[in-house]
Amino acid sequence: MTGSRPTIAIVGYGSQGRAHALNLRDSGFDVTVGLRPGGPTEQKARADGFIAKPPAEAVADADLVAVLTPDMVQKQLYADVLAPHMKQGACLLFAHGLNVHFEMIAPRADLDVVLVAPKGPGALVRREYEIGRGVPCIYAVHQDPSGHAEQLALTYAGGLGGARANIIRTTFKEETETDLFGEQAVLCGGASSLVQAGFETLVEAGYQPEIAYYEVLHELKLIVDLFYEGGITRMLEFVSETAQYGDYVSGPRVIDASVKARMKDVLTDIQNGTFTKNWVAEYEAGLPNYNKYKQADFDHPIEQVGRELRAKMVWLNAEADAKAATAD
Ligand code: NAD
Ligand code: MG
Ligand code: MG
Ligand code: MG
Ligand code: MG
Repeated sequence: MTGSRPTIAIVGYGSQGRAHALNLRDSGFDVTVGLRPGGPTEQKARADGFIAKPPAEAVADADLVAVLTPDMVQKQLYADVLAPHMKQGACLLFAHGLNVHFEMIAPRADLDVVLVAPKGPGALVRREYEIGRGVPCIYAVHQDPSGHAEQLALTYAGGLGGARANIIRTTFKEETETDLFGEQAVLCGGASSLVQAGFETLVEAGYQPEIAYYEVLHELKLIVDLFYEGGITRMLEFVSETAQYGDYVSGPRVIDASVKARMKDVLTDIQNGTFTKNWVAEYEAGLPNYNKYKQADFDHPIEQVGRELRAKMVWLNAEADAKAATAD
């Protein structure tokens, strides 16, 4: 180590990888990026001023290696590159516990193994850091032969800017299961399905798709921003009494006990490994269903009308371009 600062290799330069690499460098760490030569993000890493080396070279000298490739390639990456090339006693860091928790990776006994998971997408991890704020991080220790694993995880989370918001200790099991549940039941799966169902309900009843789009998708941003600032209470303070009364009587009719029972089924499939087993099988089969689902979402009428309506808000394109430049 250079003084008390670990030298860091970041493998993968996508959503999380780019944000971690830039924040850690700005926090004073020596960061090398490991990428497949000719891969899609190699040029981006070089353009940001990093030395991009093939992963085997990048990890060989590092005190800490952060695995920020897609979850489904990590098992092979560990076997082919990390296990044979990481130095003795180094630290292996994940941003999601899936491969370790479900035992697809069994790390070498000499390695410290930790998790630092920012509770937000990479673009936000970078943007918040740049304006002097941070995204809360949760961290965990899986194995600790050096006795310094927790300190390394805290140092890394601090370098990301996470300490400016909050850092909470968790376990690989808790992070993996709650992260999968959150994105499936609420954040990605639940929210997108709720919006699509609301849109379909209005359009099937004969209302204009443009009005339905503004009502159930566009306006959601205001609501979520209020949740973020001050919880559900703050949202209720900002909407009319009529909207509040409608919330109280109709919310529980839509999201009723049967929805919660199915959320529990989703959680059970996550906990007992069924979801991960199916996801690995889907990935190994070449993503046939994943690609079908992706196309169906792309072709949904809400996306078609949304593309037309968003084109009228020209500033959205400028914002999206700026975000893309700091995101994946
Ligand atoms: P991503 O898909 O945005 O980026 C992946 C990067 O890995 C790219 O640079 C890609 O070129 C590179 N890559 C792909 N295959 C590779 C290989 N075989 N060898 C070397 N490099 C390879 O990934 P992401 O969404 O940033 O996810 C990375 C990790 O962070 C995952 O464990 C994920 O669960 C976790 N995570 C993601 C988010 C998020 O918001 N995206 C949030 C928290 C945690
Ligand atoms: Mg998450
Ligand atoms: Mg996740
Ligand atoms: Mg969906
Ligand atoms: Mg309204």
